[in-house]
Amino acid sequence: MVEPRFSGVFSALRAFRPRARSGCLAVAALIAATSAPLYATGVAITVDDLPVYGRFWTAAEGKDVTDRLLAGMQRNHWKATGFVNEIQLDAADRPARIALLEAWLDAGMDLGNHTYSHPSLTKTPVETYIADVARDETVTAPLLAARGRREHWFRYPFLETGTTQAVRTRFEGWLGERGYRVAPVTMENSDWQFATLYDAAIARGDLAAAARVRQQYLTFTREIVAWYKQAARTLFGREPSFVFLLHASRLNAASIDALAAILRDARLRPITLDAAMRDPAYRTADHYVGPDGNEWLERWSQTLNKRLPFETMPRVPKAVVAGDARLEAIPDPHAPASVSPAHS
Ligand SMILES: [Zn+2]
Repeated sequence: MVEPRFSGVFSALRAFRPRARSGCLAVAALIAATSAPLYATGVAITVDDLPVYGRFWTAAEGKDVTDRLLAGMQRNHWKATGFVNEIQLDAADRPARIALLEAWLDAGMDLGNHTYSHPSLTKTPVETYIADVARDETVTAPLLAARGRREHWFRYPFLETGTTQAVRTRFEGWLGERGYRVAPVTMENSDWQFATLYDAAIARGDLAAAARVRQQYLTFTREIVAWYKQAARTLFGREPSFVFLLHASRLNAASIDALAAILRDARLRPITLDAAMRDPAYRTADHYVGPDGNEWLERWSQTLNKRLPFETMPRVPKAVVAGDARLEAIPDPHAPASVSPAHS
């Protein structure tokens, strides 16, 4: 969508479970059968900018974020797909950083390609961009191969997919030959903007401010999740499976249980990316060509010639947008790796 957070710049129901009567398998089975439709909508959790989005000076710091993210996702039975920027591994403590990616696989998660250095396809020549994607296979692909698996998901940085049809055709042709599928995004919560403020509050030891940002983030997430459900219904007359974009941030590491509760309340059931992509909605054509980093509901709205209800779309609080922009403008003299700071 032509939303500032993606374009240009950088862009369970609290399940009504009838109380089980003890000792009666038939009743339990009936309950399972009748409650299943309440969880009919799947949501795949995807996590970008691995190993760590935001402040990441040492592998030890990254391990704290990674451990909390993975423990939270496992606690809530999320089988997430993490998208790696291998530039983040280029530091003196490289082996320990690679171990963070191994931890994702050991926790039952999948890993995909998010380019080596997080370039914009809007601003980068396509052959340079292709080389950057190939370079991102250096560590991730062998880690998957060692487990008998193959790297096969690609996520566009900034969700930018090419400004001309020639670029789209060339890059997507290359991706297909390489065995990749594009991981679309059909739900997101601008988490990266809140994460910047959260990191800054934690860095200065202001736990009260961090708690306020986290609360704003969760309130916004609850609102935007409801909006995406409504928006998808305007396109398909039903709720398709969703693909939710999050980032590997300290904020999310501190919020997984609360995010899981929001998904449950919204009658969304975490599923794998492979499972979500089997929903026929994902066979809808995407013909968008241009500079903006649009998510896929907007792309499909153009294909289907239907309007999304942007007038009711919740907005990230202005203070959060301004705070993120201000903080991102300050160079980080300690950062050993230089992934471009604002992401999708
Ligand atoms: Zn990203």
